[in-house]
Amino acid sequence: MPTTTELATTCPHCNKFQDQATGKKNTRPRPGDVSICWKCFELGIYEQDLSLRKPSEIELQELLENPSIKEALRVTKNSNRPTEAMKKLESQS
Ligand SMILES: [Zn+2]
Repeated sequence: MPTTTELATTCPHCNKFQDQATGKKNTRPRPGDVSICWKCFELGIYEQDLSLRKPSEIELQELLENPSIKEALRVTKNSNRPTEAMKKLESQS
């Protein structure tokens, strides 16, 4: 089962307040991890204090070329809930 962590962050793209982060089983967001916003599907990167920042142009290019990020974006856009998306991604790995 995916792990949902209570974590107050704001999307750096659409300013949507988020009170939870859902990831793969037994994971919690760590600094440097990549986040997909559930509202705008843009990528964010966790800072040391677990706030989110926009990736730089170079980071964004690298992330969008990463097959697992591409797949995560595709699955997230085709799911009704974050937990549903993570279940699909867990079942693939
Ligand atoms: Zn957003």
